[in-house]
Amino acid sequence: MTAMRTGIRFDQRGGKVNRKQRRVAASAARKSKNKDLDEKLSLATSLADKCRICESSFDNTNMSMLSEWMVVVREDMRETHLYCPTCWEMGQKMIKDLEEANKEGDDKK
Ligand SMILES: [Zn+2]
Repeated sequence: MTAMRTGIRFDQRGGKVNRKQRRVAASAARKSKNKDLDEKLSLATSLADKCRICESSFDNTNMSMLSEWMVVVREDMRETHLYCPTCWEMGQKMIKDLEEANKEGDDKK
């Protein structure tokens, strides 16, 4: 899973982030108004307009929403999934719990 806070960062946990995406994320983080962000926005406009989990509606013209909502890019499936901050946090917590559960069963580290 490859994720990014819209326009800011990619979560690389277990994910495949290609170099271009990383660059896009990096420069979008540096300057919030540039071509890369436009790309990001056009990506955002091409995706769902609501949270994939709770179906809250997402306004892709709202900059604060753009900076808070998470877009998960599934390169393998050429899909983007949209999550509101609440559902994203829930998801992160679940991932963390899973990781911790995994760690408990793994003494190698
Ligand atoms: Zn949600």
